Amino acid sequence: MSDFLTAFSDDYFEARDKFLFAARVAGAKVKSVAHPLPAPNGETIHMDIAEYGPDDAQTGVLIVAGVHGPEAYCGSGIQIQMLRSPEIMAKYADVKLIFVHGHNPYGWAWCRRVDENNIDINRNYVDFSKPYSVNKDYKLVQHLFMPDDFDEAAEQAIYDWIAEHGQKKFATTAMVGQRIDENGLFYGGLRPSWTNQTFRREVLPLLAPQKKALLIDLHTGLGDYADGIILHVYPKDSPRAKMFNKWYDNKVDGGMDVLDNDKVDYENSGSTVASFESFYPDKDTCAMVVEYGTGDLSKILMALIKDNWLHVKGDLDSAKGKAIKKELLHMLYPNTEEWKTGVWKHASWVLDKTAEHIGAL
Ligand SMILES: [Zn+2]
Repeated sequence: MSDFLTAFSDDYFEARDKFLFAARVAGAKVKSVAHPLPAPNGETIHMDIAEYGPDDAQTGVLIVAGVHGPEAYCGSGIQIQMLRSPEIMAKYADVKLIFVHGHNPYGWAWCRRVDENNIDINRNYVDFSKPYSVNKDYKLVQHLFMPDDFDEAAEQAIYDWIAEHGQKKFATTAMVGQRIDENGLFYGGLRPSWTNQTFRREVLPLLAPQKKALLIDLHTGLGDYADGIILHVYPKDSPRAKMFNKWYDNKVDGGMDVLDNDKVDYENSGSTVASFESFYPDKDTCAMVVEYGTGDLSKILMALIKDNWLHVKGDLDSAKGKAIKKELLHMLYPNTEEWKTGVWKHASWVLDKTAEHIGAL
């Protein structure tokens, strides 16, 4: 089967049309929640939610695409091809399925990993009524990301800092998330974002009748090119970690600590997977991230740093601005046949294995 290639899209609106069509043809119930801000072309954008399967199912599976804007192209293709495949959907006949297409539609339509307020959604799902980390160390690198002009010298200054302090220090300083600079990188926000509020209000209640729930959160950026890795937040040797190893033939990369070769302690508070248990205190829950590799992590990071600079100090319509957007899109969505083939190979395997074992959740 090679028609999976047509499940992937070249822009947000193409992906949305395909998703809505595939969901309706499959017989899913669809609702769309409009975002308050439009796409660059002025059109309305949405978080689209498709619901499929028996209401009285014991188990619900929530498949989310697009926490990080254009990373949604990958998850969208996977969702659409799944909905288009009667043989895959049949394997989930006893399960309530929820698809969230465009979790952060603003970031997707504008080609930004973050939302309309520069919030990294995966640092925003914290309990704001309790103390949360702000990462004051971010001050050490903040100036490097906001030069007057982002030229080669600015790029080199970042590489020099990493060479001097090490990859691990850079990751724990710059990448874990921060709440001291609302214009900075991996900013977690000081209150629930539109995506966070909408997800809690419109999506979570859909699995109210189910006793058990699994979250599959689809991302790109980590792992080998055109291949997938499965990540989770459960401690090594915990029952959930062992369960995932069994389900996925030990092809699980374990905790969210793969940001570099030194196994960085990745402080992950605020991600959907880390918070999933708190969404459903009365259910047995389980959550995983599937990441699809797109290239060298340092290149991805540099593309994100430049995009952050562009939206604060640059000009989106300039040649440099356009080059930065093109590079970012490519680093989060390598839109080639080879890459999409690798993605669907892994994703279809994950979907098969999940269906095979979901009864044991
Ligand atoms: Zn992501």
